[in-house]
Amino acid sequence: MTKDIATPIRTKEILTKYGFSFKKSLGQNFLIDTNILHNIVDFAEINENSCAIEIGPGIGALTEQLAKRAKKVVAFEIDQRLLPILEDTLSPYSNVKVIHQDVLKANVREVIQEEFGDQEDIMVVANLPYYVTTPILMKLLEERLPLRGIVVMLQKEVADRMAAGPNTKEYGSLSIAVQYYTEAKTVMTVPKTVFVPQPNVDSAVIRLTRRSKPAVEVIDESFFFEVVRSSFGQRRKTILNNLSHNLSKKLSKEQLLLALEAAEIAPERRGESLSILEFGKLSDSLYKINN
Ligand code: SAM
Repeated sequence: MTKDIATPIRTKEILTKYGFSFKKSLGQNFLIDTNILHNIVDFAEINENSCAIEIGPGIGALTEQLAKRAKKVVAFEIDQRLLPILEDTLSPYSNVKVIHQDVLKANVREVIQEEFGDQEDIMVVANLPYYVTTPILMKLLEERLPLRGIVVMLQKEVADRMAAGPNTKEYGSLSIAVQYYTEAKTVMTVPKTVFVPQPNVDSAVIRLTRRSKPAVEVIDESFFFEVVRSSFGQRRKTILNNLSHNLSKKLSKEQLLLALEAAEIAPERRGESLSILEFGKLSDSLYKINN
């Protein structure tokens, strides 16, 4: 029986056979530890009824573990050189489809419709290319795809920011953006030694469980995110100062004070102390004063 792809020996064999050289610019750090991969698939709760979308299969380390457990796997890979390798390494699995495309340019909704039809249990599971972690996750969330959730490996520092709560130094507009759509939890930290080549930063696995509706109901979603970004402008400043600096074209200081009072938020508080519900309240009272 052939060894799993995600072992140091098999990975080396594959890389040598194809004379593959890593492209740092594509975030190519391949996993060589089967246990970590089993954990990732467990955290994603993949079973024979699940459909999985993978981003960046590399030489197929995670794809193989997904294929063993899921009903079907669809993987987006940007690097043309990996396609013949994947065709070889994944040949034992008939439930995998590799799409040669930059996931940021892909119509993922259409692919879901074509490949999974009316299947209900769809998960994104990936060891993400670190140079585009945030754009990829924000694309998947903002498009409101019919996903059960997302379980991905990424830089620990980014995972910490995504899962952070108020009054921590990691809490910011990225935490709110992610937690607006999902419940976020870092489920595992991962040492550098399980990758080839080893990345420069520590890694973690985050689980994002899609909420049935956003964490807070707001009148105008894009205005809500503008208020959030404006509130975190400069962390040392009070919320009033940040808002008056960043929203001065739309609202006067008097209007800001009225809106803060209506939302029961003291003007001298800092953005990092506001919960997502408070940001929702604040955004709605600013919106009402402005319209
Ligand atoms: N899944 C493999 C593993 O765990 O060993 C490889 C993970 S590696 C961190 C990231 C992979 O994403 C690489 O194969 C890289 O070529 C691919 N990639 C980078 N940017 C991409 C993009 N925009 N769209 C799709 N794949 C991308």
